[in-house]
This record gives sequence, structure tokens and C-alpha cells, in this order.
Amino acid sequence: MNCPNCKSPYGETDATCIICGFPFQGTDAEKSKFIGQQVLKEGVIDESRKATQNARLILFFIGGLNCILALFIPDLTTKVIALALGFLYVTFGLLIKKSPKLIMSFALFLLLLVFLIEGIIEPISLFRGIVWKLLYISSLVYGLYNVSKAEKLRLESEYLKQK
Ligand SMILES: [Zn+2]
Repeated sequence: MNCPNCKSPYGETDATCIICGFPFQGTDAEKSKFIGQQVLKEGVIDESRKATQNARLILFFIGGLNCILALFIPDLTTKVIALALGFLYVTFGLLIKKSPKLIMSFALFLLLLVFLIEGIIEPISLFRGIVWKLLYISSLVYGLYNVSKAEKLRLESEYLKQK
């Protein structure tokens, strides 16, 4: 026989599925409650994937923008720093799927650090492009939040780990 939830085979004496935790011996209500919860959990994992994809695009955008703007900076040191930051953000974008939580944390830290340093050098710059800055920050924070939630769910069962 196969588990109604994850379709993996199980023995007649098993109380719960070893892959997904489905309660074979439970009441119908318990079984449907379990299925409902699984659907919600898969939704959370799916959302974390979308949030990672979104953060990835944002990182490519910030990286590309930094590189393009760097071309118009007359001061050589500032130009090199802007280019290096641009390449770093693009690299973060390329690596984000391998380790979403780590990369998003690094990227968020770097963004805030750059905004802070710019703000110290020239306080008015903090408000320049504030809507964009908030968009960058919120997409990374949202990504981190969702990835953390999905990570916890993946620890619950073999089935969710594969999702
Ligand atoms: Zn199962």
C-alpha cells in the first residue's frame, strides 16, 4: 500500500508514515487535518522559493545599477568601490540559491553598511532613492523570514525536505 499523502509504500502495521508522518491509524478527521496542514506547509515552502527568486532579481538589479553608475563617477577610488560592490551583489545573486539564508544575510548587512557609510559622509544621501532602498531592504528581509520558516518545516519530515 502507498501513503495517501506522499505515495511512498508502507507496511500494514505502521502507525504513521516514516516519510511524511501521515497518521494511518488516525480518524478520518485527523487524516484530513493532516493533509490540510501539509498543503499549507508546502505553500510556505513554495513562497520561500518565490521570495528567494525575487531577492535574486533585486540583487542582480542593484549589482547592475552599481556597475552602470560607476562608469559616470569621476573619482577613481569611488569608481572602483562602486564597481566592486556591483560585482559583489551580482555574485550574491548567482549564489543565492545555494545558501539563501547566508547570502541574504550578507547582502542585507552590506546594503545597510553602505547606506550607513554614505549617510555619515553625506547625511542627505540617506534620503536619496529612499523608496528603492526600502524596496531592496524589504525584499531581503521578507526573503530571510520566509526562508527561515521553510527551513524549520523541512526539518519536520523527509517529505517536506524534498519539497
Ligand atoms: Zn507519507
